[in-house]
Amino acid sequence: MVRTIQEMKETALSHRASGKTIGLVPTMGYFHEGHLSLMRAARSENDIAVVSLFVNPIQFRPGEDLDRYPRDLNRDVELALDLEVDILFVPEGTEIYPKEFCTRISVQGLSDRLCGESRPGHFQGVATVVAKLFHIVQPHRAYFGLKDFQQTVVIRRMAQDLNFDVKIITLPTVREKDGLAMSSRNSCLSADERSAARCLKESLDIAVLQIREGERSADSIRTIIRERIAREKLARIDYVSVSSPKSLQEVSVVEGEALVALAVFVGRTRLIDNVLVRT
Ligand code: AMP
Repeated sequence: MVRTIQEMKETALSHRASGKTIGLVPTMGYFHEGHLSLMRAARSENDIAVVSLFVNPIQFRPGEDLDRYPRDLNRDVELALDLEVDILFVPEGTEIYPKEFCTRISVQGLSDRLCGESRPGHFQGVATVVAKLFHIVQPHRAYFGLKDFQQTVVIRRMAQDLNFDVKIITLPTVREKDGLAMSSRNSCLSADERSAARCLKESLDIAVLQIREGERSADSIRTIIRERIAREKLARIDYVSVSSPKSLQEVSVVEGEALVALAVFVGRTRLIDNVLVRT
């Protein structure tokens, strides 16, 4: 385990100097199969697999779940070891953000839609920490999950706009048997909430079916999803979106590629899911 920026930088530099490739998987820990799928890819496609574990405070707003965010460092270390991750980078909060820190990276427009609308500043926090991790770890490839689709769009844009020499690789959403997208936050759900949480994937499945059967009205798709989720007493919709997967702007007609995405509070826990459809 590496705990300081200096050691991480020096290690990365020496691997690079000896011609080795580095793959980075940025995470906030409390690993599940979604994280592990990214680690396996980083492991198999690079000489050195680095996993960062940092619960990034600046991507949470006051009142969000920073304090409740699940953590279990010992278990995460074991899982990373099992997968033969070479370096687990676990910096302290004060190392990443010393007192005088005041820089933010803003990927404009893309950051303001979908999750950005209900979590202002969230993607500034994400882009800022990922930019720092890219500088510190100097990866050739970085791995992100499509469960956080908007995050992948924001990071790709940032990497391109700021000329980061890193290939952004995205991998499919890993799900529980009943379809619920794996998330560290699922551990916060009570048994009743866990059962209600199935409505996210179920409503997306209904939407996909309707689109396959010829529905092209984005409003109708949004309504179908809302109606399914409204049946769950423990669920409260944050947003339901049908958008362009490139610009993340809402569309009125589903044609070509569309991103159907949603965020739902189940009890106090906010869950997200999405599906990419092609007509
Ligand atoms: P997190 O620790 O939640 O910040 O996630 C770290 C990385 O794992 C991000 O790139 C996420 O998109 C990805 N990830 C989280 N959940 C899943 C999942 N169910 N399937 C695939 N990737 C995931």
